[in-house]
Amino acid sequence: MADAAVTEMRFRDPVRARALAARLGELVAGAGRQISVMHVCGSHEQAIARYGLRASFPADLEVIMGPGCPVCVTDLPEIDEAVALARAGVRVATYGDMLKVPGTAMSLADAQTEGARIDVVYSVAQAVELARATTDEIVFFASGFETTAVATAAVLVAGPPPNFSVLSAHKYIPPVMEIVAEMPGARVEGFLAAGHAATITGAAVFEQFAARHRRPVVVAGFEPLDILAALVALVELVVTGDARAINCYPRCVAREGNKVAQALLWKVFRPIGGRWRGIAHVPSGNLRLRDEFAHVDARRRFTIDVEALWRMAPPALVEHCVCGDIMAGIAAPRDCTLFGRACTPETPVGACMVSSEGTCRIWHQYGGHPDLVAIGRAAPAPEVP
Ligand code: SF4
Ligand code: SF4
Repeated sequence: MADAAVTEMRFRDPVRARALAARLGELVAGAGRQISVMHVCGSHEQAIARYGLRASFPADLEVIMGPGCPVCVTDLPEIDEAVALARAGVRVATYGDMLKVPGTAMSLADAQTEGARIDVVYSVAQAVELARATTDEIVFFASGFETTAVATAAVLVAGPPPNFSVLSAHKYIPPVMEIVAEMPGARVEGFLAAGHAATITGAAVFEQFAARHRRPVVVAGFEPLDILAALVALVELVVTGDARAINCYPRCVAREGNKVAQALLWKVFRPIGGRWRGIAHVPSGNLRLRDEFAHVDARRRFTIDVEALWRMAPPALVEHCVCGDIMAGIAAPRDCTLFGRACTPETPVGACMVSSEGTCRIWHQYGGHPDLVAIGRAAPAPEVP
């Protein structure tokens, strides 16, 4: 089955792919039990879904997507801050993925419908250009992990125009892995670490993590072969009980990471504790601007009245959303009664259905799991209020 699936897929090197898939099968069969591992990167889930990689995995290997999408983990109050600013008449520039993410009372797209000015940008640099072309105040609502936070930091160090500021919802990945590893009910025996983020932080940060939690970590790239090779390495470590960190993406990731980018990141940002949507309070998981950058910090430049928003009723359907459990690896999209019914990419209820890196959105788009055929027979979804 796995061998046929590999033959049907187009790999750069089908012979190697077949050998890796066979090795994965041997390792899992040798373990004689189900093995669950987690990746923490939306790009990994996209590659797995796009290339149909799950079809080549042994049945007893479960590859779960954890909190790997910065849009999904942006917490309600952070969305609320952006919405409150926009409703107060400030122009908010942000990535398109952030528009439809539901806040406590409404999304930025809802605020836009009410007349708020929201500009969709593809990069922080584009938001700066926007500020240079106008005298309006432009607040860049910045989401993303350390990879994108470095780009935001670079812009702030370079000196943006005086009408530009940042509302940071940037997040830092290593601390959330600590939380997920210790979550009650988590079945995760090993982690695939996000290759992009590791280009900044380096592979070494995972060495202590692996030892502390007695779970192996493998830094993985994004080609289908990278993922297969990293899974073989990870499952090998799991079955031998070897809690080490290995770098399977050395062509991009150095052990110590990118020191210049790290210096830039920590010059501008400080890590503080805060909630990740649906997951938990994550100590040191949120990146906020340091005092030296108070003049470009939208939180200090404007009075942001989120309490007025909180007096509005939250949408009732959100209560049924199990995004948090999905990102913790405890549930899958098929476990949500709203999946593909009340919750679709056009009408997202939870954050995981909004972003192109969200698990529910990816599964919806690619039909990335055989169980998706069960959707049509799922229990009726609750009424949309
Ligand atoms: S920021 Fe990069 S490394 Fe992190 S989840 Fe997104 S794609 Fe993956
Ligand atoms: S299908 Fe929608 S409501 Fe359900 S967990 Fe996913 S995002 Fe949340």
